[in-house]
Amino acid sequence: MTKRRVSKAIKIGGVTIGGGAPISVQSMTKTDTRDARATIEQIKELAEYGCELIRVAVPDAEAADALVKIKRGIAIPLLADIHFDYRLALAALEAGVDGLRLNPGNIGEADKVKAVALAAKKRGVPIRIGVNAGSLPRTANRKLSVAERMVEAALEQVRLLESLDFDLIKVSLKAFDVPTTIEAYRSIAEKIPYPLHIGITESGLPRTGVIRSAVGIGTLLYMGIGDTIRVSLTAHPREEVIAGYEILKSLDLRQRGPVLVSCPTCGRAEVDIVELAQRVETELLKMDKPIKVAVMGCVVNGPGEAKDADVGIACGKGKAVLFRKGEKVRVVEEKDIFAALMWEVGRVK
Ligand code: SF4
Repeated sequence: MTKRRVSKAIKIGGVTIGGGAPISVQSMTKTDTRDARATIEQIKELAEYGCELIRVAVPDAEAADALVKIKRGIAIPLLADIHFDYRLALAALEAGVDGLRLNPGNIGEADKVKAVALAAKKRGVPIRIGVNAGSLPRTANRKLSVAERMVEAALEQVRLLESLDFDLIKVSLKAFDVPTTIEAYRSIAEKIPYPLHIGITESGLPRTGVIRSAVGIGTLLYMGIGDTIRVSLTAHPREEVIAGYEILKSLDLRQRGPVLVSCPTCGRAEVDIVELAQRVETELLKMDKPIKVAVMGCVVNGPGEAKDADVGIACGKGKAVLFRKGEKVRVVEEKDIFAALMWEVGRVK
C-alpha cells in the first residue's frame, strides 16, 4: 500500500480531517431536514453505527431554520449541503453548523462564494468544495476529459477561497464512473495540500453500489489518497456507514467492531451456513469490540479458520466444534450453534 498522502489538517467540530488523522466515516441523512425530530433520530442511530460526521441537505429556508434544533440534538459534527442559494449557506453558518459543502458548479457567481467564505472564516468553519461530474460549470473546457474538467472546476474554487485567505478547505471530486473518479482524485492530490473527501457518487443500490464504492474508494485509499469517506447508497444511511467501515477494515486502515469470516459454503456443508452467518452478522453489527469471528461450514477448511479467529465455529453433521482463541472449547449440537457462538463472543474481552 502506498504511504498516505500528507494533507493539511482541518477540524470539523471535534473531528480532525487530514494531517494523518484516522480516515473518518461520514454519511448523509435521508430524512426531510425540515423535520428536525426525524433527522435527529436518524443521526443518533447513525452515530451508534460509528458515523463520525453527518451531512444534511438544506434545500430551503425552512430546512436552514431546522439546523439550530438539529445541531442541539446531536453529538457529532453537522455539515450543511447547499446548492444554488448561497443565502442558505449563510443561514446554516448562523445556525452553528460545523462544516459546509458547496457545489461550485451551481452556487453561481464568485461574489456569492466569497460572501460565504468570509462568513465561514469568521466562524472557523471549513468548506468542502464538492465537485460532481454531473454538475460541472457550463464554462468548463469541453476539450478536457471529465476528470480534468472536475479538477479544473475544483482548482478554480480553491484559488478563489485562497485569494480570500481562506484555507479551511476540503475537496471532493465525485463521479459515478469509477476510473474517472480515481483519475480526478489522483490528479488533484498532486496539486493541492488540502484533505480529500472521497466517494463514488450515486453508486446505486447496495448490491452494486457497495462494490462500486469499495473498488473506487478502496483503490484510492490503497494509493494513499483520501482523508474521509462516504459510501453513497440508495439505501438507509446506516448501510453507508457499515460499508464505509468495512472498506477501511479491509485495508487495515481502521478497526471498528467485529470482523466476520464466513465460508462461502459448498456441497460439503451440512448446516445452513448462509442463515447462520446472517444471524451472526446481525448480532455483531450491534457490537463495537474489535474481534474476529469465524463461521465455517465443514471440517475440511473450517477448523483452520475457526482456530485463527477469536471465536470460531466449524460445523459438521448435526454438530459443530467451537473454538476460542485457537483452542477447542467444546462440541455443540446443531440447534445450539448460534447461542453457543454468541455466548462465547460475549465472553471475549
Ligand atoms: Fe465448503 Fe467447507 Fe470450505 Fe465451507 S469451509 S466452503 S463448507 S469446504
